[in-house]
Amino acid sequence: MSIRKKLIAGNWKMNKTSADAATLVAEIVAEVGKQADVDVVVCPPFTSLETAGKALDGSSIKLGAQNLHPEKNGAYTGEISAEMLRALFVNFVIVGHSERRTYFGDTDAFVNQKVLAALKNQLKPILCVGETLAEREGSQTLKVVQTQLEAGLEGVSKELATSVVIAYEPVWAIGTGKVATTEQAQEVHAFIRSLLVKLFGEAVAQKVRILYGGSMKPANAPELLAQKDIDGGLIGGAALESRSFVELIKAAA
Ligand code: PGA
Repeated sequence: MSIRKKLIAGNWKMNKTSADAATLVAEIVAEVGKQADVDVVVCPPFTSLETAGKALDGSSIKLGAQNLHPEKNGAYTGEISAEMLRALFVNFVIVGHSERRTYFGDTDAFVNQKVLAALKNQLKPILCVGETLAEREGSQTLKVVQTQLEAGLEGVSKELATSVVIAYEPVWAIGTGKVATTEQAQEVHAFIRSLLVKLFGEAVAQKVRILYGGSMKPANAPELLAQKDIDGGLIGGAALESRSFVELIKAAA
């Protein structure tokens, strides 16, 4: 029996108005609002955090954001701070998603600042790492994952490391319908766990959850979730509809 409780997180990306968010969250809560054996997180866009949070009230489902700015406040037009997220009762925040790295220039150093800012403000960062198709084909997968992981976690203390969630998301599997095989995923997850052992020691590494992300669906989830080092999923497309998201939660239970 794993000491890690499974975690299913929905990354809604740039989808849903706040009215749509309220509807979707209400549907999820009606089905699995009091899930005891799986941790569930929904990460709507900033504009829907407040309505989604209200719709989650009284349930065991937690609220997550998709990004944050590392500074406390100030002249950063268009940005959102950890403090602002905390004020909306946000518990988790996705950091270093490949779409942010690719389209918005988030570097490993900036991702690291976001991880540290999140932890400083009692937010649990979901740190995303993963290789592109060219990197996988060039046998660079483990090297890329190691660089992103070690840079992203620089300066994180042993005490706070158990609040971090890692998401392994092979870029070629995100939104493509191409899921990593269970062997490919487990190999990288076990490698990440071994890096966590080096960084924080065995006891801490055994507590850190490592999610798989990239075209996870009810059909492929049971096999992925049965792997020793796969502790849940970061779900994009299948989190936008209550039926598939609820099925994924049930698959993790
Ligand atoms: P996907 O997205 O499930 O649609 O592949 C996952 C993610 O990008 O977090």
